[in-house]
Amino acid sequence: MGQTIQIEKANSLKEKPDVSNIKFGTVFTDYMFSSHYTPEHGWETPTITPYKNLELSPALQSIHYGQSVFEGLKAYKSGDDILLFRPEENFKRLNRSLERLSMPKINEEDAIKALKELLQLEKDWVPDGPGQSLYIRPFVFADEPFLGVRPSRTYRFLIILSPVAGYSGAALDPTSIYVEDEYVRAVRGGIGNAKAAGNYAASLLAQQKANNLGYEQVLWLDGVHQEYIEEVGSMNIFFVRNGEIVTPELNGSILEGITRKSIIELAEYKGYTVKEERVHIDDFLKGVQDGSISEVFGAGTAAVISPIGRMNIHDTDYIINDNQPGDVAKDLYDHYTEIQYGRLEDPFGWVQ
Ligand code: PMP
Repeated sequence: MGQTIQIEKANSLKEKPDVSNIKFGTVFTDYMFSSHYTPEHGWETPTITPYKNLELSPALQSIHYGQSVFEGLKAYKSGDDILLFRPEENFKRLNRSLERLSMPKINEEDAIKALKELLQLEKDWVPDGPGQSLYIRPFVFADEPFLGVRPSRTYRFLIILSPVAGYSGAALDPTSIYVEDEYVRAVRGGIGNAKAAGNYAASLLAQQKANNLGYEQVLWLDGVHQEYIEEVGSMNIFFVRNGEIVTPELNGSILEGITRKSIIELAEYKGYTVKEERVHIDDFLKGVQDGSISEVFGAGTAAVISPIGRMNIHDTDYIINDNQPGDVAKDLYDHYTEIQYGRLEDPFGWVQ
């Protein structure tokens, strides 16, 4: 890339929806960004066009062999400003995902420039109600029409935008989780630490099983021993044990969440002790039973922090902290979201 972005203006703009009534990921804005990769020219023709369907070959590499990776981040409204939270981290992670799937890397600075230009055009789509934001979905997929198992020669990089409501219940409503000990999401050496489309396909059956049993999300155990805690749904997991914050250490199959990284930094800044360690499910269960574990919560871009109030571990139900959000989760959530919306000083330089 590095080239000037061509902009094709829309003849008419869509009517803006009432964001408080829309379902996540169903409404898209007027414009999208795209760029195309060939081995001869690298990433080229960066373009902003009206949001539209794509015309693709039925032999598309990514449909058959799955070279497809994505990112997820949000833009927030603060007065007249549009704020982004650590976008460079998302594009760094996109490049790590691309590398793992033998796909060509993008230029991170150009991608952030393209995103900012797109947001400039779409600034009226960033909602300003409580908890509302504009979800940003950058993604790269292989678009060579070819049936054969080898990396595609050509790729597309797109960015689309979707306004999202705050949570329907109160923020920090506790969720319920099922500790999955049959299916696994990822294994070390695999692609669990890449944000690859296939990881989400691998998660769906267990997610359905958990839903059928009356739980909202799955807690994944490691793919080798099925004994060590990894992550919860599409969030990283944290818990409070004897007043200290604990999260599983990164091991190659856990996705390195930007919220995870930021929560660790914020918690340490606020004086909490944070430990990253390998956590055996039976030790975790003991902590839940003897009360040394007082809070459990997930952390990810979607909900920031999601307290876990009920857990099924080895077919027994346990209630955590009376199914209420804990004090540590509340403290971190408040501080974190105040920084994101530009209402509290940002000592880390996270917000742009
Ligand atoms: N784990 C998985 C599997 C995820 O899909 C996500 C969401 N991207 C996370 C963790 C949290 O990552 P982040 O904080 O960057 O949203």
